[in-house]
Amino acid sequence: MCLTPPVRTGELFDLLRDGRPWTRAQLAEATGLARSTITARIDTLMRLGLVAPFGGARSTGGRPPALFALNPTAKLVVGVDVGATHASAALTDLNGSILGEVDAQIAVADGPEAVLSWVVESVRDLLEASERPVEDLAAIGIGLPGPVEHSTGRPINPPIMPGWDRFDVPAYLQEKYPVPVLVDNDVNIMALGERRRHLRDVDDLVLIKVATGIGAGIVSGGILQRGAQGTAGDLGHVRVPGADDVPCRCGNSGCLEAVAAGPALAAAVRAQGEQAETGGDVVELVRSGSRVAMGVVRQAGRDIGEVVATMVNLINPSVVVIGGQVAGAGEHLLAGIRESVYHRSLPLATEHLRIVTSRAGGEAAVLGASALAIEHVLSPDAVEAASEALAAADAAAEAAGGR
Ligand SMILES: [Zn+2]
Repeated sequence: MCLTPPVRTGELFDLLRDGRPWTRAQLAEATGLARSTITARIDTLMRLGLVAPFGGARSTGGRPPALFALNPTAKLVVGVDVGATHASAALTDLNGSILGEVDAQIAVADGPEAVLSWVVESVRDLLEASERPVEDLAAIGIGLPGPVEHSTGRPINPPIMPGWDRFDVPAYLQEKYPVPVLVDNDVNIMALGERRRHLRDVDDLVLIKVATGIGAGIVSGGILQRGAQGTAGDLGHVRVPGADDVPCRCGNSGCLEAVAAGPALAAAVRAQGEQAETGGDVVELVRSGSRVAMGVVRQAGRDIGEVVATMVNLINPSVVVIGGQVAGAGEHLLAGIRESVYHRSLPLATEHLRIVTSRAGGEAAVLGASALAIEHVLSPDAVEAASEALAAADAAAEAAGGR
């Protein structure tokens, strides 16, 4: 790869993020920068702690180290997943490796201060347990179960989150931890987490969460797609054929969510004489061999597949991942989805398409929240800003010393 000079320190660092060791000569060749410039910039990145001599050992005889790589343990981030009735937080290094994790039964409906004060305590506990100072915390990523304006970190009219509408989530946490706070909806962070853990080489994927509601996180060309207002992927209220008379909580009728989300599946199972309150109960029935539950789940798969087929035609993903509680029904759900998608989508779009259940499962969300934070901290712009701040501090110190 050859970049157009002048290459900034942040962009030089971007090369080093691949985790492989680099020599100065390789960096000079890749960037077109002079060897002396590379040396100065590596020096800055080492002072910031982001880059370290590869292998940890300096070469003998006083010579400078020959190989450099990302130093993943220099800084830490916390990824937080807030669900309807639970929350979890994980401390990770800059590779996204989990160093510690905490969970709590806490309802998002208890309001932002109850939930976010738990986050504040959890960050402190996680840092203490790993014996790292608060100065090592570089950012916090949070997923919330509702629509979020990503640029400001504020939830917007979230249906199951009373008290959260336009609440300034970053400002609340920054009173305690003065670091960047990135907020997104739960489905988007699940898509990021699944990709980071299991689908690193996949640039076009859709993760569909089927739980109490239905939504999708879309990664296209390697970039999470939020859309103009952050509502991209809101599949739950797309109309499905043959459900015109089924009312939905949004006020319309015939929505996908009204026929294929957890509560609808439980109702369909009850209508055929079996006991189920939630999507989780339906999954349990499927696992215990209930023919009724299997049939209901398969039909839900077909309905979801109708909408997924349109999505496949529109954005041509290479992998569709099914996550969320109802994904626990496994092949019974996938079979229905595949049936509709292969029937309705263009042959070229489905030729290499994989439709699979989530492998990251319950960890997808915290991993994705951590990935959101890491991407921010290690972005060329953020690294450039940190190196400029360091240079300004050096200049000020020099001026003070020269007085
Ligand atoms: Zn609806």
